[in-house]
Amino acid sequence: CGIFAYMNYRVPRTRKEIFETLIKGLQRLEYRGYDSAGGAIDGNNHEVKERHIQLVKKRGKVKALDEELYKQDSMDLKVEFETHFGIAHTRWATHGVPSAVNSHPQRSDKGNEFVVIHNGIITNYKDLRKFLESKGYEFESETDTETIAKLIKYVFDNRETEDITFSTLVERVIQQLEGAFALVFKSIHYPGEAVATRRGSPLLIGVRSKYKLSTEQIPILYRTCTLENVKNICKTRMKRLDSSACLHAVGDKAVEFFFASDASAIIEHTNRVIFLEDDDIAAVADGKLSIHRVKRSASDDPSRAIQTLQ
Ligand code: GLU
Repeated sequence: CGIFAYMNYRVPRTRKEIFETLIKGLQRLEYRGYDSAGGAIDGNNHEVKERHIQLVKKRGKVKALDEELYKQDSMDLKVEFETHFGIAHTRWATHGVPSAVNSHPQRSDKGNEFVVIHNGIITNYKDLRKFLESKGYEFESETDTETIAKLIKYVFDNRETEDITFSTLVERVIQQLEGAFALVFKSIHYPGEAVATRRGSPLLIGVRSKYKLSTEQIPILYRTCTLENVKNICKTRMKRLDSSACLHAVGDKAVEFFFASDASAIIEHTNRVIFLEDDDIAAVADGKLSIHRVKRSASDDPSRAIQTLQ
């Protein structure tokens, strides 16, 4: 029932610091209630060609996940990462019993090509699962969330151009989803990138940088609010932003991003936060954050929505 993700870009952080940030983030969200916890971290430095995503999942307390992280990791804890993206989740089971396999991140396949953490409920997951199974995608959990992980792989496997962006994949995926969600995706096909989105469930992004942040198209004022003056600025922002708006928030500078369900997990790191709105897609690549709003699928009939994928 809580999402926390952390990304550093050109800010050297040891593996230990990254683990600690993720675990502390989850602990701040513990009050929301949960029955299991999990995370995904980069298996290798981004400079290394061969990379993989490592999943660690545990039924029970965040503390148990913390211990498991250190147990499973074979890397030197003092290794520094210039850029790293880790995602973490506490689950409150809605579909499928509390267990390691049903915990998040859920994955697209055994190679962890795409992994996702999710808060909320996908109401049309049965139709989506049936469709994906008919296409040969094999499921391992009982969760509604796994359909999202498989669906993004399906869209990727059937992409019409080689250079399709991560955020385009996510956009296609959420056009098929019914229900409530806050999602953060990670993929071995897009190293050093992250995509987050939401509808119905909360999600915000904290930005920490000692550099002045620059924006294009829309002044950042309308999208970022310090926690103290959240109300005033957000009200203005709503008026200014239309569905096609896109902004680039950060230049080619050292920066850290924090994704969380709740401001309480971010406040100790930064007070510059961006509250995502329904159907916003926030993509981070090369230390640059862009947000745009997706138009909903014309149909709310899931079977018709699935057809548009075929
Ligand atoms: N519906 C998802 C599941 O049961 C997510 C639950 C949550 O928000 O933690 O796995």
